[in-house]
Amino acid sequence: MSFTLTCPICGERDQSEFRFGNEDQGPGPGHEGLTREVYVNEVLMRETQAGSQKEWWCHSYGCGAWITIWRDTLTGRQTDEPEAVK
Ligand SMILES: [Zn+2]
Repeated sequence: MSFTLTCPICGERDQSEFRFGNEDQGPGPGHEGLTREVYVNEVLMRETQAGSQKEWWCHSYGCGAWITIWRDTLTGRQTDEPEAVK
């Protein structure tokens, strides 16, 4: 499935220029009191729900910026403007 993503710096580009960084699950659990089970759930377990979800992407073959977007996982299309640049 090919689709485009919009980088706030470079504009609309083919998704092949980006690297998927995972679903945005909000702040991590932190290091204090971190158990193996919490770490595995945080790093490895993903829900990937059908429909719109918030995701991290890096424009790795472009400007290198990390962005968060809302994307429909059924169509691949970005459903909203990028929310953040890191
Ligand atoms: Zn870019």
